[in-house]
Amino acid sequence: MSKMDERRPLKDRTKLVHAGRHPFEQHGFINTPIYRGSTVLYRSYADLVARNAKYTYGTHGTPTTDALETAWTEIAGAAGTVLAPSGLSAVALAILSAVKAGDHILVSDSVYQPTRNFCDRFLKRMGVETTYYDPGLGAGIAALIRSNTRVIFLETPGSQTFEIQDVPAIAAVAIEKDLCTILDNTWATPLFFPPHRFGIDLAIEAGTKYLSGHADLLLGLVSANERWLPRLRASFDLFANCPGPEDVYLALRGLRTLELRLREAERQGLALATWLSARPEVARVLHPALPDCPGHAIWRRDFRGSSGLFSVFLKPVSQPALAAFLDGLSLFGMGYSWGGYESLVIPFDCSTYRTATTFAPPGPALRFSIGLEDPEDLKADLAAGFERLKIASQ
Ligand SMILES: *Cc1c(COP(=O)(O)O)cnc(C)c1O
Repeated sequence: MSKMDERRPLKDRTKLVHAGRHPFEQHGFINTPIYRGSTVLYRSYADLVARNAKYTYGTHGTPTTDALETAWTEIAGAAGTVLAPSGLSAVALAILSAVKAGDHILVSDSVYQPTRNFCDRFLKRMGVETTYYDPGLGAGIAALIRSNTRVIFLETPGSQTFEIQDVPAIAAVAIEKDLCTILDNTWATPLFFPPHRFGIDLAIEAGTKYLSGHADLLLGLVSANERWLPRLRASFDLFANCPGPEDVYLALRGLRTLELRLREAERQGLALATWLSARPEVARVLHPALPDCPGHAIWRRDFRGSSGLFSVFLKPVSQPALAAFLDGLSLFGMGYSWGGYESLVIPFDCSTYRTATTFAPPGPALRFSIGLEDPEDLKADLAAGFERLKIASQ
């Protein structure tokens, strides 16, 4: 890799294939194996006392975790990456790397709800105050900054409702005021939104979603720019909140095909979102790549693609009619999380917890994660659901 780097930067697809692998350090085998272990032996008393070894203890990293951290750092355009056992623990680690008692943080009203719970139930107890802001604010966020504000936390598009934030405008304000910006970048991944190039300090990825791609692991990653990496790494070492080696291995395996799967998720997502937007039962589709969605212009300016997760607002229907639609679906499963190979749908309601924006859809709100099934089969499954909905409404 290093020789090539000198000539011309590699494209993302090439990096995904080669990053973090050293076959001849493991007898020529292509993939970095799963290293398990707590104890690492030292060669001598002097080495032990000086901790003179590449690997010093299980919680401080193994060749397997190194491979994923190195690869992700390259893909994210970061200075370094640390791993966490879930996306939510990555959120907590990033925030705790940047705040202390008495601080204030600004958090987008559209964040993943458990991030909000962490702020309201844990940070509050530790003496850190949270203000939720309208994700549409952009540079106007400056008006909310106090003398003790330390962090601006962003998520774009927003969880469930897909608001697009003006990251460059917010990052410019944060840089001027010397604040830390933390972005939950799970939807886009660094392939569709390179976070640090947009001035973000700490970027979170729930590897549970597209990096896994198979709904069979939990993982989080936090990448940092040069300025924030020492604080992030120090917090990681203090917590020793490590993912298991098998999950790290599976994430590395997923990494190699991430671009292929994301591009297909984009194609499938757009096909279904477009089809749904033409259905008479649908009031609105929330998908930033559709031209009539708010935030579309910023999405086009900043993003390189869209993934397969979006939402719709149905026109008003009764609860039994909604149940008839959902319960008879044969290809769409109902369950939390997303980004796997199979299609999912869940109903959601943000009206009970959002505080800086109003959530008032005309009818039920549904979030779809479109998988790799044939889109014609998915449309037929939904069309049959709409037929059941119509009969149940009569
Ligand atoms: C799922 C998700 C998380 C949390 O990931 P887990 O691994 O399930 O803890 C964080 N942020 C976003 C945007 C998510 O969708």
